[in-house]
Amino acid sequence: MGAMAKLKAKIDSRYRKGSTNTNQNCESCQDFIPAAVVHGIGADLGTEPRCRRIGMNGSIRYRVREDYTCDHQTMSDEVLEKMRMYRERAPRPRE
Ligand code: SF4
Repeated sequence: MGAMAKLKAKIDSRYRKGSTNTNQNCESCQDFIPAAVVHGIGADLGTEPRCRRIGMNGSIRYRVREDYTCDHQTMSDEVLEKMRMYRERAPRPRE
């Protein structure tokens, strides 16, 4: 059995292995849903990570990994807020 073809949405977005800077990866993206309920034929199949841009379908081909990224990565408001708080708390350089 061969490998499944990659989704066109993933190819077009250049979905790929992410950065060591997690702020640039799926896990920090506004479109990332870490535990989306996946619906199979006649039953829910549990939860899996999904991306609103790539799609919410049940097929394993729609799974996105938190340590991956793509050209559409946009930091979520939560991550931006954390970065803002971190900057405010950082010691200021002496004058
Ligand atoms: S838009 Fe890209 S970076 Fe954001 S969750 Fe989807 S695949 Fe990941």
